[in-house]
Amino acid sequence: MDIVDPWGSSIIDYDKLTKQFGIKAFKDVLDDIPSPSKLMTRGIIFGQRDYDKIAKALNDNKEFATVTGMMPSGRMHIGHKMVVDQLKWYQKMGSDIYLSIADMESYAARGITKEQSRRLALEEYIVNYIALGLDVDDEKFHIYLQSENDEVKNLAYTIGKKVTFSQMRSIYGFDNSTNISHIYTPLVQVADILHPQLEEYGGPRPVVVPVGPDQDPHIRLTRDLAAKFYDEYGFIEPSATFHRFMTGLTGEKMSSSKPKTAIYLTDTVKEATKKVNSAKTGGRDSLKEQKELGGRPDECSVYELLVYHLIDDDKQLEDIKNKCINGEILCGNCKQCANKHLTTMFEKLEDKRSQAMEIAKNLLTNE
Ligand code: SF4
Repeated sequence: MDIVDPWGSSIIDYDKLTKQFGIKAFKDVLDDIPSPSKLMTRGIIFGQRDYDKIAKALNDNKEFATVTGMMPSGRMHIGHKMVVDQLKWYQKMGSDIYLSIADMESYAARGITKEQSRRLALEEYIVNYIALGLDVDDEKFHIYLQSENDEVKNLAYTIGKKVTFSQMRSIYGFDNSTNISHIYTPLVQVADILHPQLEEYGGPRPVVVPVGPDQDPHIRLTRDLAAKFYDEYGFIEPSATFHRFMTGLTGEKMSSSKPKTAIYLTDTVKEATKKVNSAKTGGRDSLKEQKELGGRPDECSVYELLVYHLIDDDKQLEDIKNKCINGEILCGNCKQCANKHLTTMFEKLEDKRSQAMEIAKNLLTNE
């Protein structure tokens, strides 16, 4: 069995992934979703498990929850914005939002202390989440550090009774050198996802977890454990959606630890636009070839930026794509267009971030 490694590998073969692991196509449920988001209609969210339950809750105006987590371990880049966009959409649709700061996982897997996690989560992530428009004052919004949430920790301990080391090893690829805390952290993540269904958090109801496909092992384990603990807690097996990773500016996966691949949300406008100017595109080697053969938008990191984050209007996007394929525009035109939108976005972000810090600090004070 192939292992999907949630702590490292980059997965880009989405077809293989859906076939091998049984993730269903998101387009199968798209028509059942009221006002789907751009990430959904543009196929950036490509897969799902059990999304029918969420579609039903959306249509019937029933309670459901959205759960996500952040592992504070580096700088937030523009690819991470996708999660925020999804949370904002679910918030608009009336969902409870649970945001776990995975400080226990950060400690076990990366050696980052709890205090470092708190600071990183606040200064790098939460500030940007707020600046990007997530409403943290909404009464349905909940945020916590794993290490400070006793219900989550207790639930993790309880559900651990029905998992064996051999299961954990086959799902995550743990070996004899893996530290025990690291082996335990997936159970805390399972508890992150299941705890909104505890009676004190509103009881059993549908839950959706928007993730990248590298997180599927957690989803499968969580669904398995939800079923095993149905008699005790009445858990409904959580649903999940899977979104594509952004291609980095160099052509590989965008990564916080590889500065050349990523546009960080805290980059200055000058830094961000400079990165776009040197980004790998799907353009040809010469202008003559580009005009004759056309470009390859499907292999272009600049076009991806436009699709994922910068252009709202589907018609405008289609126009750019067609002109690219027909050799009617050049990569310089697209980079200029991307930089115009990026400049507007980053100036707004910078402005909002300065107000967001105070709000963020108050969110994680436990005095
Ligand atoms: Fe990418 Fe635009 Fe160049 Fe086409 S013309 S390859 S979309 S940058």
